[in-house]
Amino acid sequence: MKCISDLTKEELTKELTGLGEQSFRGKQIFTWIHGKRAVSFEEMTDLSKALRLKLFDRYLICDPGITRIQSSKIDGTKKFLLKLTDGSMIESVFMRYRSWNSACISTQAGCAMGCRFCASTIGGFIRNLSAGEMAGQIYVMEKETGERISNVVLMGSGEPLLNLDEVQRFVSIISDSDGAGISKRNITISTCGIVPQIKSLAAKHLPINLAISLHAPNDEKRRHLMPIAERYSLKELMDAVRYYYDETHRRLTFEYALVKGENDSKKDSDELAGLLRGLNCVVNLIPVNPVRENDLKRPDNKSVEDFRKRLAMGGIEATVRRELGSDIDSACGQLRARTLV
Ligand code: SF4
Repeated sequence: MKCISDLTKEELTKELTGLGEQSFRGKQIFTWIHGKRAVSFEEMTDLSKALRLKLFDRYLICDPGITRIQSSKIDGTKKFLLKLTDGSMIESVFMRYRSWNSACISTQAGCAMGCRFCASTIGGFIRNLSAGEMAGQIYVMEKETGERISNVVLMGSGEPLLNLDEVQRFVSIISDSDGAGISKRNITISTCGIVPQIKSLAAKHLPINLAISLHAPNDEKRRHLMPIAERYSLKELMDAVRYYYDETHRRLTFEYALVKGENDSKKDSDELAGLLRGLNCVVNLIPVNPVRENDLKRPDNKSVEDFRKRLAMGGIEATVRRELGSDIDSACGQLRARTLV
């Protein structure tokens, strides 16, 4: 059965007129699902019973089920393990900041990319998520916490750019003012560096943010942490990223997981500063979260701060990511991985 939550307002309008309904019904049903967060057609009380029945016979509304929630006692971060209709498990995270709430959502069940520091890749790739399943993660977390989410990062399990059509549809749905109305400027797509897809995304000229998982200052070190580096060199990646900036003029974010003894030396920070010089960007330093499934070690706070300072001396702005949910399984994919072993 088709999932009605996957359709943009325009697609829904077309669908409804195809069923012989008036075109305004498309917007009306879109608002029920994405604005009022209806999870059943019975809730849509301003539709006739006949239309509700027609919808019930043809469509599903995507509503991921909560399997488990881990709540941080320190900062209010909540990690959700969600089950989709086919039984696939995904993770989503609710993060509370001073004046807004942010959601980190998954775009695929599992991940094929094999980054060494990431638990999402354990068990491999299962399938792409649909746009409605991405939006559903936000709605479930808002419902459970009773709080509004205004910022979204596509940084949970999966490589968003390998599911670009659905990601683009998701951006259209979630930013629609007749639905959740989350500003595109508050949406960040994170990629491990799929060069052709970065260029495709650039050509769409969406005013969203791009975060690139870099994690190493040269090809050799990057290959050691991320298999994708075997496919695309840093030169190819940086050319694509420059192209993205030229097309969108959106400031870039580079994610850099600091791993003790692997990519956290003075030489690494100087090399990184050289690589990024001249780009309008910020580096997000993430002291790696050691997980049971890998042998990576977290550098101490002084080494992290020294790394940040050396980047600053090299003219590169860097921030150290606030470690949200440090008392729960906060590494990407960790909670889901627990259900696989
Ligand atoms: S970091 Fe992202 S791309 Fe890499 S394995 Fe994890 S989910 Fe996949």
